[in-house]
Parts: sequence; structure tokens; C-alpha cells
Amino acid sequence: MPAAHPDELTFEESLAFLDQIAGFGDPLPHLILTGGDPLNRPDLFLLIAEARRRGVGVSITPAATAALTLDVLQRLKDAGIEGLGLSLDAPTAAAHDAIRGVPGTFDRTVQAIRWGESLGLPIQVNTLASAETAPGIPAVFELLKPHEIARWSLFFLISVGRGKVLQPLSPEDGERLMSWIFSVSRDAPFIVATTEAPSYRRVAIERMREMGITGEQMKRSGPLRGAGIRDGHGIMFVSNTGEICPAGFLPISAGNVRTHHVAEVYRDAPLFKSLHDPRQFEGRCGYCEYNALCGGSRARAYEATGTPLGTDPLCTYIPQPKSH
Ligand code: SF4
Repeated sequence: MPAAHPDELTFEESLAFLDQIAGFGDPLPHLILTGGDPLNRPDLFLLIAEARRRGVGVSITPAATAALTLDVLQRLKDAGIEGLGLSLDAPTAAAHDAIRGVPGTFDRTVQAIRWGESLGLPIQVNTLASAETAPGIPAVFELLKPHEIARWSLFFLISVGRGKVLQPLSPEDGERLMSWIFSVSRDAPFIVATTEAPSYRRVAIERMREMGITGEQMKRSGPLRGAGIRDGHGIMFVSNTGEICPAGFLPISAGNVRTHHVAEVYRDAPLFKSLHDPRQFEGRCGYCEYNALCGGSRARAYEATGTPLGTDPLCTYIPQPKSH
């Protein structure tokens, strides 16, 4: 097991952070424990219990290691976990393990899906969408179909960290994949969604318009569930050392939970305020008529342009500039 970061939040600091989350008021945020591997924290089950005691819902995305056993999943269920996130990037062990760089992770992930099903845990499967993985995505869908999955989310690669060895999809291939996602989402036995690709909402609206679906029907449709949520707006990320960022892939800190209240940062920090207001976005995302519903991936905009207010380069849409 890798050593914990020397500056990782202690148990007491984590409790203080949970108090801050409870301070958001109604509705309380949902907490997703991710990593690394959250199973590495010896106080994990205590922290989940403390979050639940404060009325905060908790999901977890554990790594597919030998530590992820049926017994651990049962304990997570008993602790009141509301969601189990697992990563499946390819339809075969050879391809998935090559991407993850660890042999055996495909088999462990599929086993964890089966265990999660047997326990009745709501499962979210996350699949990376990159130039390398895109050809295998339809086969991943077929593999998942017979399983009791609540949600399948395609994470459109942003080239930072581990992602750097993989290639992001071109805008044209991204558009094609989003169109395919919309097509399969209509009959899928689970919710099909995207991560770091809010322009999927624009693609879905365009497709629904072509199908003659009315605006009211669109609002209730799956692809527009959560419309408006984007990095820093409806989502925030707190690192293991307490840094408060708009998203995991948008590593600009607006404060630290050791010295700042997370709800105040979310509401009042200039970075977050600018991300709440799409009129402040630059380039196409700034004048696009879809920007309240979509707004583009702020993380990808930052990676591509150096500012989190830039244009998401994955999107092919060319809006008409507003005349003033
Ligand atoms: S231009 Fe920006 S806001 Fe408009 S649809 Fe594309 S990503 Fe979304």
C-alpha cells in the first residue's frame, strides 16, 4: 500500500471538513470519496459513519485491487454507501489492464461489479473515452448491458497526469461518440452519461430537435438531467491535503479547508464566482446560446487555453457571435 501523503487531512481535520459540508445547508452536497484508493484510509469507515451522521450522502470509487473484497463491499453497504464507482476502460482484460498498467484489474473490476450487484449496491461504471479506447466502447456497452448497473459514464479524457500517455479524442470523433451515446441512451438498461463533456447536452438537444421532441419533453430527458452542472458549478473537488478546486482535473486551488470554509469558497471565491457565471467565459463558450446548460468542460478549457474561462476545444459547435 503506498504511504499516505505526509500532509493528508487528519481524522480530526476530516471531521471539521464534514462539519463544513453540513454547513452548505439544504440541499446537502453528496460526497464522493475517490483517490488514489480511498480504501487505503484506515479511518474510512469511521469517516463514512460521521458523514452519514451529519446527513451527508456518500459514494465511493475504490481502486480495483486485492483489497476490494466482497466483505469490504458488504461493510461499505452496511455503512450506508449510496453509490459504488468502478472503472472499466475496455472490453477485454488485455486492453483494460494495458491502459491501467496493472495486470488483473479487469478481472477484479468485473468481479466487483458482480459482488456489487449481489449486494444491491447502486453501481456506476466509468469508462475512459480517448482515441485509444473509443473503438472498444460499443463492446464495453454490450458487456455491461446484462448487469444491474445504475449509471454508465463516459469520461472524455483530459490530457493531464496519467492521461498524458493517452490521446484525447479529436473534436470530430468526440462529436461522433456523443451522437452514438445519445442513440444508445434511449434504450439502455441504465443511465448513460458523460463526464468532462457537457457539450453532450448540446448534441442531445440538436438530436432531439431533429426528432421533433418538444422543449418540455427535453427538460425531462436523461441527457438534460443535471444540465447546468459543470466544473466549479454544482461540482467541487477537495484534495487529500484539503485544497479546494473546481474539479479533480482543474487543479487551481481557491483555498484550503484548514483555513477556509468550503461553502464560503464555493459561494464567494472569485474563481468559483466566475465559474458560476457563463457570461464570463471567453471565446465561443462565452457567447454560445447553450452556455447555461452546457458551459463546456472548464478543466479542458484550462488545459488547452491556460484559463478556466476559455473555450472547451472538444466542442465543434460554432455559435453566432452576439451583436451588441
Ligand atoms: S461552444 Fe461551449 S457552451 Fe457552446 S455547446 Fe460548445 S462547449 Fe458548450
